[in-house]
Amino acid sequence: MILIPICIRFLFTPSSKGQRMYNDAIYDFVAVGVGPFNLGLACLSSAVTDLRCVFLDREEEFNWHPGMLIEGVTLQSPFLADLVSMADPTNPFSYLNYRKQQGSLFNFFVRENFYLERQEYNRYCRWAVSRLDNIRFNHQIEQVVYDPDQRVYRVTGTETKQNKSFSFLAKKLVVGVGMKPRVPDCFRPASRGIELHSSRYLKNKPELQKQKKITVIGGGQSGAEIFYDLLKDSEKFGYQLDWVTRAPRFFQMETAKLTLEILCGDYGTYFHGLDKPTKQKIIEEQKSVYCGANQSLLDEIYDFLDASRHSNLPQVQLMPCMNLINVKQNNSDNKSADSTNGYFLQFAHTQTGERYQTDTGGVVLSSGHLYEVPSFMEGVFDRIERDEQGKYLQKENWSVDIHGREIFIQNAGFESHGLINQDLGMSCYRNSRILREITGQDIYSIENRFAFQSFEPGKESGWNPMGSGVPR
Ligand SMILES: Cc1cc2nc3c(=O)[nH]c(=O)nc-3n(C[C@H](O)[C@H](O)[C@H](O)COP(=O)(O)OP(=O)(O)OC[C@H]3O[C@@H](n4cnc5c(N)ncnc54)[C@H](O)[C@@H]3O)c2cc1C
Repeated sequence: MILIPICIRFLFTPSSKGQRMYNDAIYDFVAVGVGPFNLGLACLSSAVTDLRCVFLDREEEFNWHPGMLIEGVTLQSPFLADLVSMADPTNPFSYLNYRKQQGSLFNFFVRENFYLERQEYNRYCRWAVSRLDNIRFNHQIEQVVYDPDQRVYRVTGTETKQNKSFSFLAKKLVVGVGMKPRVPDCFRPASRGIELHSSRYLKNKPELQKQKKITVIGGGQSGAEIFYDLLKDSEKFGYQLDWVTRAPRFFQMETAKLTLEILCGDYGTYFHGLDKPTKQKIIEEQKSVYCGANQSLLDEIYDFLDASRHSNLPQVQLMPCMNLINVKQNNSDNKSADSTNGYFLQFAHTQTGERYQTDTGGVVLSSGHLYEVPSFMEGVFDRIERDEQGKYLQKENWSVDIHGREIFIQNAGFESHGLINQDLGMSCYRNSRILREITGQDIYSIENRFAFQSFEPGKESGWNPMGSGVPR
């Protein structure tokens, strides 16, 4: 593929939104969304001569899950899961080079801790953004259509700072818009639930801490981080704290090294080849890997509770087996005299079947995230393969278009390649593959094999297939 540089021209014309900003250059690809996955792609692309690409994000600036940038909380992945190292350890956008440029590499060396604080990872990503000249913030994408005459995609939206509509043309697209907060069905309308979701935690924290009682729902990593953050302040503010999970116990994420091999390219390829019911069964079985909280955090919580036994900590309750079934607003009409204002929460015990109601002043829904196909893709639905539920049918190379080489999707849930889709450690692998598809060149060499184990015996194993006797 010959990558031809094209002069960029912006045309300004008046419209109802003010001026229009039309860019009639044809890019090799436009990337929508600048989270860690597309930011990694931007870093890796920057070294490719004559590759014309632009990265668009609706936010004013880069901030990684800002509602969860809790002080002291770390990534679950080692620092080598940075934006570039797993594709190219010599890349100037590596975390080690960031520390070198900051003059603090020696401190990192002495610190001997592979797990960066989330706030530090955010600073590193912002540093990377500041060194790239093709990232455009304040660009809200609203529509993507295909122009058959020019054989290009037209990406349009609003430049929110100046209230101008914009348009970019590209041969290919890489969509990395992340996930949406998952809200339990009983929190309807969903917008009300989203306000209480863990993704808004730091914004809501001052208001939460004014309540007499706070309930954290969800026993995963975010739930544990929020519970612990609130627990440490509970004596100071005097609020009671309940931590509730539907799971039968508060459990740690599985991190045995051989288990972590399911977070690698070999496994992603194997998983991609399975049929849908088998995939669904496996995803359910793998909850011990992606649900739960990390062991050190659970230990810290336990130790804190033990050390607080003789202090004046307000009531703290941990409740496993509690499935949230209903929620009612606790307004002045149905509020009991000593009640905290806020909500009545109703739960069913998953093992005894008993139902319970409790009132609480503040709720944090640590109920995870889910992928939704963004509405701006509707204009190209006729070029995309989707299943009966409207979800993408992603090919092994992460494309979703009918030709399998034009529209690539980052992090679209577990259905295509399993847990690797969300994992920062596999971002470089996917981005190297996407770059290979886009440019037709092996720019970053890609390992043929990652894992010690074989997820399906290959020809070289000497294990000869005899046909399928057991249903998958
Ligand atoms: C709190 C938290 C901690 C996590 N920690 C880890 C970890 O330690 N290790 C790990 O492997 N994984 C972790 N994950 C999982 C995953 O790696 C992250 O969610 C990661 O941020 C996903 O990156 P992304 O690029 O897909 O999306 P996001 O980071 O969500 O970024 C998506 C971007 O798209 C933009 N966007 C969306 N719609 C539009 C639009 N219409 N127009 C323009 N821009 C748009 C958004 O503004 C946003 O900036 C964590 C997830 C969460 C929620």
